[in-house]
Amino acid sequence: MDLFEYQGKQLFARYDIPVSPGAVADTVDEAVAAAERIGYPVVVKAQVQVGGRGKAGGIKLAGGADEVREHAGNILGMDIRGHAVRRLWIERASDIAEEYYASFTLDRSAKLHLGMLSSRGGVDIEQVAEESPEAIARIHVDPVDGLTEERCRSWVGQAGLNPAAVDGAVDVLVKLYRCYTDGDADLVEINPLILTPDGRVHALDAKVSLDENADFRHPEWEEYAATQVLDAREREAKEKGLNYIGLDGTVGIIGNGAGLVMSTLDIVNEVGGQAANFLDVGGGAGADLLANAVEVINNDPSVRSILVNIFGGITKCDEVAHGIVEALGRVELRSPIVVRLAGTNAEEGRRILAEHESDTLIAQPTMLDAARKAVELAAR
Ligand code: GDP
Ligand code: MN
Repeated sequence: MDLFEYQGKQLFARYDIPVSPGAVADTVDEAVAAAERIGYPVVVKAQVQVGGRGKAGGIKLAGGADEVREHAGNILGMDIRGHAVRRLWIERASDIAEEYYASFTLDRSAKLHLGMLSSRGGVDIEQVAEESPEAIARIHVDPVDGLTEERCRSWVGQAGLNPAAVDGAVDVLVKLYRCYTDGDADLVEINPLILTPDGRVHALDAKVSLDENADFRHPEWEEYAATQVLDAREREAKEKGLNYIGLDGTVGIIGNGAGLVMSTLDIVNEVGGQAANFLDVGGGAGADLLANAVEVINNDPSVRSILVNIFGGITKCDEVAHGIVEALGRVELRSPIVVRLAGTNAEEGRRILAEHESDTLIAQPTMLDAARKAVELAAR
């Protein structure tokens, strides 16, 4: 779950990471009122979950109320790379001597946490990584050991920051590591982390992604649910309790078990198609859940065919077949469904499907046959 900058900064503040005083505003008047309280100059910042806001004109300095009014008016409602701006963050403007980059994330292949620090912040870090990878100092941290101040200091040394920034950076990074681990984040990123002319090190931006597997121990995360940006398909799936991720293709996918669904995406790709989504109905899925899944996929306008791939274990194929038949009665299908059933009660499931076989309900014996058929139908 991704946070907005203002939420990330509020989280940073709880871990004692220095951020500028600020406030959210949803209207021009609220923006002016916030700026008056905070004191000028301020920065008016678009709150959208996409980078490069500065370049897109979504971040403006304002020296007085008139400028805040002008910028807030321009930025609210602006479209930044497909994200509409509905909220602003107004904060006290900082003087910048230097801009750095800092982040922690999980390095899955090393099975360790990875910290990245660069004296070349403020810009697109992917570009720095590509053009001059040596400009990014990396550190692997074993979660059992944690990040000691000593190791952190040697890491900061490698990054070659201005000597005036070293103590401040060590302090911020130790706290940022704690925020990342105790806070159950998948990613914390500060770009830019700034050095001010008077020698303070300070977070000017915040990108935080939380690990939703840990939400059971974070009742405070509930406040983020209301502000989450989901596409319409994902919102509907979430309401129905489905494990769904929207993709860009035309073949709607339903399967049971994340591994099977992933291989279904691969096979569809292999035979020349593209999946419209990932949808895992999980183990023991009954008729009602199946019908819900078909309904969600049927509401996706880019879907041209639906591929149901079930390997029955705890899940019984006859129940799945009932679910599909129920869905056919409940929704007006816009695209044909291709079904492959194997495992527990598969024969009974196939018999049920055979009774309803038509142009829109097609059973196939294997996963490959089913994928081929679904891709062929999607291309029509
Ligand atoms: P992003 O473009 O979405 O990454 O948004 P940032 O919050 O990182 O802001 C982009 C750039 O705006 C920063 O790299 C700074 O150069 C500039 N900026 C942001 N806040 C301030 C500020 O308080 N003072 C000054 N002088 N520049 C700022
Ligand atoms: Mn930034």
